[in-house]
Amino acid sequence: MTSHIDPDGDAIGSVFAFAMALGSLGKEATVYLRDKVPYRYEFLPSPDRVIHTLPVGKYDAVFILDCGSLFRVGSGHDRIGAMGPVVNIDHHDTNDHFGMIDIVDSGASSTGEIIYRLLKPLGVKVSADMAVNLYTAVFTDTGSLRYDNASLEAFRICEEMVKAGVKPSRVATMVYESHPRERFLLLGEVLRTLTTYGDRIAVARVTSDMFERTGTNREFTDGFVEFIKEIRGIEVAVLIREIDKGNHKVSMRGKGTVDVAAVCNAFGGGGHRNAAGCRIEGTMKETEEKLLQALAPEGCMKDGENSAELSLMDGEAET
Ligand code: AMP
Ligand code: MN
Ligand code: MN
Repeated sequence: MTSHIDPDGDAIGSVFAFAMALGSLGKEATVYLRDKVPYRYEFLPSPDRVIHTLPVGKYDAVFILDCGSLFRVGSGHDRIGAMGPVVNIDHHDTNDHFGMIDIVDSGASSTGEIIYRLLKPLGVKVSADMAVNLYTAVFTDTGSLRYDNASLEAFRICEEMVKAGVKPSRVATMVYESHPRERFLLLGEVLRTLTTYGDRIAVARVTSDMFERTGTNREFTDGFVEFIKEIRGIEVAVLIREIDKGNHKVSMRGKGTVDVAAVCNAFGGGGHRNAAGCRIEGTMKETEEKLLQALAPEGCMKDGENSAELSLMDGEAET
């Protein structure tokens, strides 16, 4: 069982809960995640076998959760098809149905919601540990039950998980209020790059130098793009993160009017209407220009504003 690189609460919560569910049915599930569990999700109760090196060998089934495309599993994804029949369980709008079996519902708030739906027919009783994982999956993917995908069903699942023993304040504290101090040193640096275009697009940048200066890494940027989305009037928030020279990871968030999954999909990425990502090759400046060009037809830039860069802070924005 596996999920995507840079795993979020839905990726980890869904995989952990589903591994525990299959374990309760007497199946041996091995969880493979390319990346280590980010610090904010380390509190999640873990199933027995979690590995970070792609295993070799054959399995009865390979479950891939919360991945719109197979490549999101990380390098070695091309070997996965040979390991066993692939079951694709996901809720991304851009899912490309790579499984032998595809359980894909873009109407689901989260992959956690789909896993929850599978438990009853499987005859699994939700344990307290499963409940914390499922609650965290649904709660984090709905932006703490604030986004458009915070459906009645999402609330119902959270209610049921609370009845099964979850303490919402504990999850919130662990996920949102347990950052190392260094994260805020990094946030300070990143906010100094904040630039708005036509009052509707906000862009912030993260370079490898910033990670070095502040003693942080990419997992510390989780939440930054949502933060700049909070600016009044902004329709699209963009965080561009340097992976290495000439290679950038883009996180895009929308407030409803622009389909950011479609924009990211044009660069080979994907996601949801209001939350998507992609990778772009080129310098930071080239990456930003490509993104602004792609966003221009979405009506996010008024005429003639392509070059009218408005930095929110004094002085030059750092690139
Ligand atoms: P992120 O900006 O990485 O938090 O991702 C936002 C959403 O877009 C998540 O649902 C991701 O699974 C999805 N996503 C991010 N990057 C990609 C990509 N390169 N290809 C497809 N989906 C992505
Ligand atoms: Mn995810
Ligand atoms: Mn998800």
